[in-house]
Amino acid sequence: MPPKPTRSATLVVDLDALARNFGKLRGLCAPAECAAVVKADAYGLGVERVAQRLVREGCRRLFVATAGEARELRVHAPNADIYVLEGAREDETDTLVAARAIPVLCSLEQIERWTGRAILQIDTGMSRLGLSARDVEKLAQRPELLARIGVELVLTHFACADEPEHPLNADQLRTFDRLRRLLPQAPASIGNSAGTLIDAQHRGDIARPGIALYGGNPFSPGFSAGLSAGLASGDNPMEAVATLTAPIVQIRDVEHAQTVGYGATYVAQPPARLAIVGAGYADGYPRALGNRGAAVLAGRRVPVVGRVSMDLTCVDVSSVPPELAIVGASVELIGATVTVDEVASLAGTISYEILTGLNPRLRREYRGA
Ligand SMILES: *Cc1c(COP(=O)(O)O)cnc(C)c1O
Repeated sequence: MPPKPTRSATLVVDLDALARNFGKLRGLCAPAECAAVVKADAYGLGVERVAQRLVREGCRRLFVATAGEARELRVHAPNADIYVLEGAREDETDTLVAARAIPVLCSLEQIERWTGRAILQIDTGMSRLGLSARDVEKLAQRPELLARIGVELVLTHFACADEPEHPLNADQLRTFDRLRRLLPQAPASIGNSAGTLIDAQHRGDIARPGIALYGGNPFSPGFSAGLSAGLASGDNPMEAVATLTAPIVQIRDVEHAQTVGYGATYVAQPPARLAIVGAGYADGYPRALGNRGAAVLAGRRVPVVGRVSMDLTCVDVSSVPPELAIVGASVELIGATVTVDEVASLAGTISYEILTGLNPRLRREYRGA
C-alpha cells in the first residue's frame, strides 16, 4: 500500500516500531538494563515524542550528548535519569544542575570540579572522551578525589563493535576490566547498539543502544551477531522507524532525448515518464544519490535520475502505471523498502548521518499511540 498523499516532504516516525525495537533490545539485555541514547534530537527523529514513548515503555535512563540537550529533554522526561555524554564542561555546570542531569565525567579535572551523581568514562581504545589508563591509576592513588561524587556507573565505548570479530573489541574489554578494578565498585555500561547485540560481556550491566532503536542496522555490511544469529549475515534485526516521503510536484513525459537536472548528467530517452519529487538535499536527502539512489512509488522501486537538487529530486517512474504516477502522489525516499542503511550505503555514509541530517523543515508526523 502506498503511503497517503502528502502535501509536503514529511518525516513519518513510527513510535510503535520504536517501542518494539526497544522491547526487543530490552528482552535481549535482561537481566542487564536497557537505557536509550537520544542525543542529537533522538537521531533526528524528535526527542520529545521519542523520549516520551521510551519512558512510557519503561526506559528509565536516557543519554544525550550535551548539557543543552539535557535541559531540553528534562521538560519531556521529568523523572528519567538523564546522562550527558560530553561530561561536565565548566561553562555548563549551571545547566547540568538545573536539568538535574548526570554528567559522564571524562577527565580528572572534571572529577575534581563536580559534586553529585556521576558516571566515570574510561577510554579503552577509542581515543575520544574518557579517563586514560594513567588517569585511572592516579585516581586510584587519590580516592579523596571521588569523595564528593556518587559514581553510579563506569562506562566505556567501543570503536569497532559494528565488526564483532574485530580484535579491538576484546582488547577494549580486557583494558576496561583491568582499569575498573582500580576504582570503587559500580555497575558497568559498555555496549552501544552493536555491542548490546553481540553478547552480555559486550553489553555490561546497562546497555546504551542508539541507532538500533531507530531502525538502523547496528552492524557493518557483512556482519551480524547475537540476536541476528538466525538471520543471514548483514540482515538487520531491527524494524524501520523513520519514513521520508515527499509528493510528486510535476510529471514530465519524455518525448525526445533530454537531459535531466544540474550538470545534465543523465539523458532521458523516450518513451519515459519522469516525476519531480518535492525533497532534496536541503531536506537531508543526500546529493550523493544523484543517478544512484532509488525511491518507492506505488510499491515499485524507481531510480533517481540526474543530480539531486536542493529541494527537488527526479525519479524515472516509467515502470509505474500512469494513473499512479501523478502530481500529489507520495514517493517514499527512505523507509522499509529503500532502508536508511541502503540510502546511506549508496551515499557513501552511515545511517546515523542520514537520520541526523534530516532537516527540521520537514513536516513531522508521529504514528502510534
Ligand atoms: C552515540 C553513542 C552511543 C550509541 O551508539 P549507537 O551505535 O547508536 O548504538 C552509545 N555510547 C556513546 C558513548 C555514544 O556516543
